[in-house]
Amino acid sequence: MHCTRKHDYNDAMLNNEAAKTTPFEIKVIYSKRKTIELRFLDADLLQIKAPNRTSKQKLADVLLQKADWIAKTRRTLAERWQTPQMKQGEQILLLGSWHSLKILSTPNAKPQISETGVITIGKSLAEAGASALVPLYRQLTRQWTEHYAQLYAQRWQLAHQGIRITSASTRWGSCGPKNTLNFSWRLAMAPLISIEYLVVHELAHIKHRDHSKAFWQFLKQMMPHFEEGQSWLKQNGNKLPKIKP
Ligand SMILES: [Zn+2]
Repeated sequence: MHCTRKHDYNDAMLNNEAAKTTPFEIKVIYSKRKTIELRFLDADLLQIKAPNRTSKQKLADVLLQKADWIAKTRRTLAERWQTPQMKQGEQILLLGSWHSLKILSTPNAKPQISETGVITIGKSLAEAGASALVPLYRQLTRQWTEHYAQLYAQRWQLAHQGIRITSASTRWGSCGPKNTLNFSWRLAMAPLISIEYLVVHELAHIKHRDHSKAFWQFLKQMMPHFEEGQSWLKQNGNKLPKIKP
């Protein structure tokens, strides 16, 4: 059994340095556990899981100890792009730019991108929320990764064993032990040059399994301007909107 109590910044418990930025809400869940765990559910809501009868002083101490982590995590979360609402005119991130969403009256029209760059989807499908866009992200990820893989594999004589589209949320791609290339459908949110870079990166792993100097040299040989594609992923990777697969 556990109970949930809500505290806000003004609570005496939190009268400490850790929380002396903008206020955020804290939810403490007491249970039979042995350790204290902190997790931000969003930038303004911290969930603390704590053993039964943990004192307020103890919690305040933990918050103080974790002040840097708290500030950093909140900054990252605040910068995150919002999960799209499936309503007319909503802006959707696709291939590195924002596209308007148009909800169609045809109930089950699959998500598509028109020639003018508008994303369309049927109203019944849209009711499922942002997840309804995943088939479009998958399709574009497959289309573009296959395009670049074919181009570079041929040019550099690197034989991969097919492409798999995954739902990974913490890695863009990987090269399997049998040279299958895996790419997350989230990659379709990135610009084409980043997709190109990631394909070249995974292909280069067929020759160099590590991230050694030789690997990066080979990669640069394959795609001399690879940094351009890499930087978008580095800068925006943890801002991607949360969309469930
Ligand atoms: Zn790598």
